[in-house]
Amino acid sequence: MKKGGGRHLFLFHKITNTMKRKYYVNNNVQYNGDYEVHVSTCEYFSMMFNRTEIGEFDTCQEAVRKAKKLYPKANGCFTCCRPCHTS
Ligand SMILES: [Zn+2]
Repeated sequence: MKKGGGRHLFLFHKITNTMKRKYYVNNNVQYNGDYEVHVSTCEYFSMMFNRTEIGEFDTCQEAVRKAKKLYPKANGCFTCCRPCHTS
């Protein structure tokens, strides 16, 4: 019986997936009561020791809206989600 010979073309299908970025919410509350939303490339990302993946979105508005289902006081990070930072 022959094994292998499988095709690996599917490795590349993600590249066409535009500008979506992966967002996370910090499970640790900030001093002002906010739960910060970050993208995975944010400089503060590695400082979130306790985080929940929200998913991939085109805009931080969508990500924060989703995060608010977990934490009604979710708010965009000042550094990576400036348009969604409100407090
Ligand atoms: Zn951030």
